[in-house]
Amino acid sequence: MVSTRWLVVLSVLTVCQGCGLSDHRVVQSRLGRVSNLVEMEKLVDEPGPIELETINSADWTVPLSGLLNLKSAAAQQAHLTDHPEPIHVFAHVLRHPKFGTYLVDTGVSQQLVDDPNGHGVFWLIPLVVPVGKMQVRTSTSQIVAQSPGGIQGIFFTHLHIDHISGMPDIPSDVPLYVGRGESTRTSFQNMFVRGTTTRLLQGKADLQEWPFHLDNARKDVLIGEVVDIFGDGSAFAISVPGHTPGSTAYVIRTPKGPVLLTGDTSHTRWGWEHGVEPGSYTTDQPMNLKSLLMLKDLVSRHPTMEVRYGHQ
Ligand SMILES: [Zn+2]
Repeated sequence: MVSTRWLVVLSVLTVCQGCGLSDHRVVQSRLGRVSNLVEMEKLVDEPGPIELETINSADWTVPLSGLLNLKSAAAQQAHLTDHPEPIHVFAHVLRHPKFGTYLVDTGVSQQLVDDPNGHGVFWLIPLVVPVGKMQVRTSTSQIVAQSPGGIQGIFFTHLHIDHISGMPDIPSDVPLYVGRGESTRTSFQNMFVRGTTTRLLQGKADLQEWPFHLDNARKDVLIGEVVDIFGDGSAFAISVPGHTPGSTAYVIRTPKGPVLLTGDTSHTRWGWEHGVEPGSYTTDQPMNLKSLLMLKDLVSRHPTMEVRYGHQ
């Protein structure tokens, strides 16, 4: 006897043989100007105007095999084995003196942790991504409340559930920015998360895609495309496809120097230091590794750049 739940899974499998991550409306970004690494790097070592605060929104535990490619030579040499690994879920608050307050990723909404199903989290997802086990430290609603002038926009590193898990607390008129192709590039795996991603974005602003160039032959975003977000050289979005199709890193110029937010191009410090890409959570490991090595090269040219990783 096949249960109703499995019938739903089978029908989704049949209908959704390669679908986008969400059917939420996507438009080209109204913010940001096309730039490039050379232009960015001329400015990047000079102190900048943005105050950047990284907040640990929640503690969580996930398998190390999701965070690191344990089959890589470096992981094998270090005898790393799979085990439950404690991590953090971050939100980064950017305060620009002229343009206001923005978040990079959303942190975690207590509402979502208390009732994942009620917020549209597909019942299969907690088997792989145990959302209900997140221990919220500073909820997204608290982060939003700390910004009396409101949040002017959210810059996503990507749209995995732990990066959009604050959406229930984000007002519906806050502009949302993502890498190109993040929600529209089709894949078989998307069928498991498409409904959840769409529900978490329901009623929210359009997804605005950064104007990164596409590789005309493959219709993919190239690695290392740059957008000057405010047009004043204070914050940059950098395309780092691989972890997801539209993965985006950010370089923020603060009074203390530049900070790189890697997103999940490197979940961990260990992965960064050993040049090892993430494990099963990554869509395209070879491309993720190329993006990771491009970011490491960038930091080696600018050694004062502080690096903040996706989860550790
Ligand atoms: Zn991710």
